[in-house]
Amino acid sequence: MIPFDLDAVVVGAGAVGLACGRSFARRGLSVVVVEAEKAIGQGVSSRNSEVIHAGLYYPTGSLKARMCVEGRRRLYDFLELHKVAYERCGKLVVATSPDQIEAVEKVARQAEINGVEDVSWLSADQAHKLEPEVRCVAALLSGQTGIFDSHGYMLALQGEIEDASGAVALATPFEGATPLPGGGFEIRTGGAEPATLTCRYLVIAAALHAQACAATIEGFPAERIPKLYLGKGSYFVLAGKAPLHHLVYPPPIPGALGLHYKRDMAGRAHFGPDLEWVDHEDYSVDTRRADYFYDYVRRFWPGLKDGALSADYAGIRPKIHAEGEPQPDFDFAGPEAHGLDGLMALFGIESPGLTSSLAIGEEVASRLIA
Ligand SMILES: Cc1cc2nc3c(=O)[nH]c(=O)nc-3n(C[C@H](O)[C@H](O)[C@H](O)COP(=O)(O)OP(=O)(O)OC[C@H]3O[C@@H](n4cnc5c(N)ncnc54)[C@H](O)[C@@H]3O)c2cc1C
Repeated sequence: MIPFDLDAVVVGAGAVGLACGRSFARRGLSVVVVEAEKAIGQGVSSRNSEVIHAGLYYPTGSLKARMCVEGRRRLYDFLELHKVAYERCGKLVVATSPDQIEAVEKVARQAEINGVEDVSWLSADQAHKLEPEVRCVAALLSGQTGIFDSHGYMLALQGEIEDASGAVALATPFEGATPLPGGGFEIRTGGAEPATLTCRYLVIAAALHAQACAATIEGFPAERIPKLYLGKGSYFVLAGKAPLHHLVYPPPIPGALGLHYKRDMAGRAHFGPDLEWVDHEDYSVDTRRADYFYDYVRRFWPGLKDGALSADYAGIRPKIHAEGEPQPDFDFAGPEAHGLDGLMALFGIESPGLTSSLAIGEEVASRLIA
């Protein structure tokens, strides 16, 4: 048996990589999460809606359905335990015209198949009683949807890793790995103090850079690395206090859940994200998109006043499908996909990746260690 420097190395200290690191640490394994940036959570995990999804939409039997429902249950417990701010505020999926009712009914059926708790159908009157300012002809109420402080969550994950004698190495970019004869990997990291070290398990949780990382691993078949597509989502913020208690989502659009109303833990209201297919990482928000937002939001919240929205922030979805193609499942590329024992590469971890992160961490650790 080769003595490894570490049991596990995880590449990427976003929510998913940190949750994977925590799952190894909880099993008593030595683990280091290596992160290219100078702080944790600077990638996709800090540019999203911070919504805890209930698991309503995802196809039957998919990883997204299972990871989201399980991850959401684990996440609420974790946030409670670590005293990280969250609010199980609930959400309405609204039909704003009779022709949208069928789409909302489809969400209701899928939610039931996925085993999502606290979902109920509301007539227009019932929805109006709950949210008088929202206009709809019917709605689905999801009581398990919530919002949370995602950065506080990631700090708590880091804390659990460190309490179990693991570490998060910042400003330490992963630069490549070579499989060792007999199992395990030698990995190379850069930064101010370049290093090589050996480990038994290697996890790539680098989101927008997962494909680039996988390409530096010797023996990883190029044809098993899915092409990366960038799905940019921009947000606009509302002046003043959040006007609605529940999150409000119209039915999903192809490739995304669609532009919605969400609150943050500070009580501000945001609308977004839209979906724009881009060819490079650019996080600027084009203020010309505001016209579309005003028009879209007023379909479910007519109270939106002219001039109330300003450009907010943008995030980019690490997509593995092109515009117009069906949205695939999360891609967990383990040894059966690439032939390298002890390696798991995670591709296409877009929404609901944040909600699913604790379940993904457990799934990855148990698949590799089994
Ligand atoms: C607009 C938008 C809205 C979303 N809304 C929600 C939502 O409301 N709820 C939800 O559940 N999900 C949501 N998601 C999805 C969710 O944000 C992601 O699935 C999740 O944050 C992905 O986490 P991650 O750890 O995989 O990626 P990241 O947070 O991007 O972490 C990857 C890390 O890898 C690091 N890295 C990259 N290359 C290297 C390298 N060579 N060496 C070392 N480190 C490296 C990066 O710096 C980064 O820190 C949304 C996504 C977007 C884009």
